[in-house]
Amino acid sequence: MSSTLSQQIHSRALEISSRYKKAESELLDILDQLDRHRVYLKHGHSSLFLYVVRELGLSESMAYLLITVSRKARQVPELKTLIASGAMTLSNARRITSVLTPQNKAEWLEKATTLTQKQLEKEVAKTRPQAAVNEGASYVSGDRVKLQVGLAEKDMLALRRVQDLLSQARGRAVSLEETITTMTQEHLKRFDPVRRAKRQIAKKGVTLGAQNGAKNPQADSSQAEAAPKRAPIPANLLHQIRLRDEGRCTYAPENGKRCNQSRWVEIHHKIPISEGGPNTLENLSTLCSSHHDWTHASKTEPSFGAPQLTQS
Ligand SMILES: [Zn+2]
Ligand SMILES: [Zn+2]
Repeated sequence: MSSTLSQQIHSRALEISSRYKKAESELLDILDQLDRHRVYLKHGHSSLFLYVVRELGLSESMAYLLITVSRKARQVPELKTLIASGAMTLSNARRITSVLTPQNKAEWLEKATTLTQKQLEKEVAKTRPQAAVNEGASYVSGDRVKLQVGLAEKDMLALRRVQDLLSQARGRAVSLEETITTMTQEHLKRFDPVRRAKRQIAKKGVTLGAQNGAKNPQADSSQAEAAPKRAPIPANLLHQIRLRDEGRCTYAPENGKRCNQSRWVEIHHKIPISEGGPNTLENLSTLCSSHHDWTHASKTEPSFGAPQLTQS
């Protein structure tokens, strides 16, 4: 290869990687704006993470990396400058987010720009041992997933204890996988509100919801009259809501896709209690806490993509 050609390719590589670093820091900026204005909620996603993966098409690990660094950069804006200039890699910035604070930034920014990746990981692990294992799940084949998680020694011993008890009960050596799946199933059987709803409705059938505020034994006369008393939603009605909404957020944007988040869900009154909204199946819906807050803050009724009541 002629030295001119090699020089040309080298210059081009330098130019592209410099643009790449700049694009990374621009992504950090725009994620910060998406986050502050909660743009992802309007598009039907319960978190910025899901928005970045589904709407922007970035990988889960990249989404996690960018969001973590973007949020940390609010406290320590130097992160963005260092990444844009190429002095710090995005992944090294991510490595120090769990330990970095505005008070210790001189020390950690220095480490993250001078140490090798291995040295830096060691330094972080010394300060914060639980940051040393990145939690994660990755597909190994078809429908098998490899799970990686850090545990305190005492919790690992407790897990072994469960494994021993299960082996004892089943009269054979039970694997760690079987131990974890058994515990998971047991927990869901006891605490999954959708499964409980299914059992209760199957047992007791569907009853109509009580009228809002009527005959509430807990009614507190010292409360201001202007604020109507919040009557508890009857258990049977709650079960019907959980079955209908599958325990998931029903927020759906204009263009369609329902949020479906099943963590931190709450029950929302479409017509508020303060305006006489009753505790009825039609007036109640499941929303994740983000979409719930947002619904009240924006005071516009979102469209609800609730499926029909499914009874088994
Ligand atoms: Zn509400
Ligand atoms: Zn939601």
